[in-house]
Amino acid sequence: MDAPFVMATISAPENLARLDEYRKIQELLADPRKLGSNRDEKVRRLLARGKTIVLITCGIHSSEVGSTLSSMLIAHQLASSTDPEVRQILRNTIILLVPSLNPDGVDIVKNWYDKTLGTPYEGTDPPELYHKYVGHDNNRDWYAFTQVETKITVDKIHNVWHPQIVHDIHQQGTLGSRLFLPPYMQPVEPNVPQQLVAGYTELGNWMANELRGQGFQGITTNSTYDAWTPARAYSHYHGGVRILSETASARIATPITVKFEELRSREGYDPQKVSQNFGPVWRGGEWHLKDVTNYMTAAAFALLRHASDHREQWLQRFYEVGREAVRPRRKGELFAFVLHPADNFGPLLEILERGGVKVDYPGAFRVGGRRYPQGTAVVRLGQPYGAFAKALLERQHYPDLRNAEGQPLPPYDVTAHTLPLLMGVPVVPIFTPFRLPRPLPERGEGWNGGCGGAADRRAIYKSHSPSMDEGWTRWVLDNQAWCLFHVSVNDHGLRQGKLQEKFDTIIIPDQEPRTILNGFRKGSMPPELTGGIGEEGVKELRKFVEQGGTLVLLNRASDFAIEQFKLPVRNVVAGLPRSEFYVPGSILRIELDAAHPLAARMPKSSIAWAEDSPAFEIQTDGEIPASQAHVVAWYPRDQEVLLSGWLLGADRIKGKAALVEVTLGKGRMILFGFRPQYRAQSLATYPLFFQAIAPGYRPWPR
Ligand SMILES: [Zn+2]
Repeated sequence: MDAPFVMATISAPENLARLDEYRKIQELLADPRKLGSNRDEKVRRLLARGKTIVLITCGIHSSEVGSTLSSMLIAHQLASSTDPEVRQILRNTIILLVPSLNPDGVDIVKNWYDKTLGTPYEGTDPPELYHKYVGHDNNRDWYAFTQVETKITVDKIHNVWHPQIVHDIHQQGTLGSRLFLPPYMQPVEPNVPQQLVAGYTELGNWMANELRGQGFQGITTNSTYDAWTPARAYSHYHGGVRILSETASARIATPITVKFEELRSREGYDPQKVSQNFGPVWRGGEWHLKDVTNYMTAAAFALLRHASDHREQWLQRFYEVGREAVRPRRKGELFAFVLHPADNFGPLLEILERGGVKVDYPGAFRVGGRRYPQGTAVVRLGQPYGAFAKALLERQHYPDLRNAEGQPLPPYDVTAHTLPLLMGVPVVPIFTPFRLPRPLPERGEGWNGGCGGAADRRAIYKSHSPSMDEGWTRWVLDNQAWCLFHVSVNDHGLRQGKLQEKFDTIIIPDQEPRTILNGFRKGSMPPELTGGIGEEGVKELRKFVEQGGTLVLLNRASDFAIEQFKLPVRNVVAGLPRSEFYVPGSILRIELDAAHPLAARMPKSSIAWAEDSPAFEIQTDGEIPASQAHVVAWYPRDQEVLLSGWLLGADRIKGKAALVEVTLGKGRMILFGFRPQYRAQSLATYPLFFQAIAPGYRPWPR
């Protein structure tokens, strides 16, 4: 939205005069193959000369305002202090300080805060996403690189500087610990190098103890936040530790009072009790923005002292990660992945290459008794960021973690990130070292859609209670490769009616059914923002469909339609406890009815991104005859349903429907029991989504 994206490079003047030299040292340590002969001696000299590179990123989540404000306090102290310790930090480190990873959001939150200051709504979150498209999910984009901020940060900072330490400053809720620091709780994604796990464990624990020594209270480590997904941790696959800090929030900039007895347990600790990973206890009281920035700046300076005092050790660790990454693979070890040309070959390879992975295009070749045609891509593991490629190309086996009562422990985010499945690109792991034939320069097709679709008679429902899936849906349709025109319609617009005069298609993105229906509670937000779609809106939507409209419902929004329109469909997993059915963000297998127009551009078997998703069964005893419901996709009866991630209670959904079309009057409702455009990553199921919202549109012209 045209805001500037700022980074300050902070170090001693003599270091600032030689930044190119320090970048070169980083490059050589990151990829020891470039050192040539006499490696040990060269490394010794580089370790003696290099500086610890520390990237401090603030404000990716714009309502966590203490973070962006702390960047100014940190910069001021670094630039003005005469304290010998600060001068020492400046001599030994190069600090890259980003005051906001989401500059647009700073304005969105500030404008809303100013507007509501002194009203009953002071301190509430804005009634819109604090990023043009993806809201909080901007911190789930560190391997898919869909958003412009992610691209800038990766291209211009990470890939240029390869920081040894990334300090990512966040805020958490108001009632837990005052501060979280690493180590992360289990599980840790298996491709994160052991040296980095050791690094964040050592540094996080050290910072926590430093702060305790300074009198800070309520500090936890090894709780709540896991290290499973590369979506939050680019550095874990690029030689650097990620030191997440999460400080308790006020209400934006408005102070709050927390009573001791209001403090609530989170995963791994109880803020009312000292334990091995929590303490000392914070007794409650007032909590100001100034408390937030005090914790943040103290933590940042503790981190910088460690980075400075252990400069050589940080460089040594960084070098060891690189050395292990590039070592030649032995026979029987995973050597390479071979990727077959397919529709989404281009986008997948673009991701790998942006992540620093070298992809080879050797032309036709033969390995393991199999012939691979011209256009095949090969990703070898023995390269600096081979672990990044491996994490994204292999399937995830999320551990079955349970609490003391045997209940499943929810992951912090989702459990799967297998791009070949999400994008529908066939991939073969190769365990035999082989020599690649003469390399060819060109590669497979890139994003190759074209502008298409009808005019803007397509609407996306936009609740005042922001839904990230709504933002992702807009992003997918706006993306240049597809450019499917659309407009937004809010609660008021739906209640007003005459929908069929304005729209052919209305999409309701993934959101809790009761939030869609009721929106914000009366009194919690300004009156014009409360109330949701409401009964009036439901009536208008029904009229819209009966008169020929298409209503497309994504994931949990399908439950909204089932309930409100009394559809002849039942969600067979509704209300089941996690111990009986649980799918917290996983890739499942579906089969499709190739004869149905919605599946026209799909293979017979594909994937579904399931996340708190319904699964359907057609009902015969409702008002609407069962014959009006058509199953388009279903979970296989005789095959493994889970492809990647974690799924409990697979038997409950075997043979059940994942995509259903219900005709009503002259129109239809299309119920997706999954997210077909998940975070702009599940390209494999875009054709289903596009057929639903723009029949006949060809996303991949040949
Ligand atoms: Zn955050």
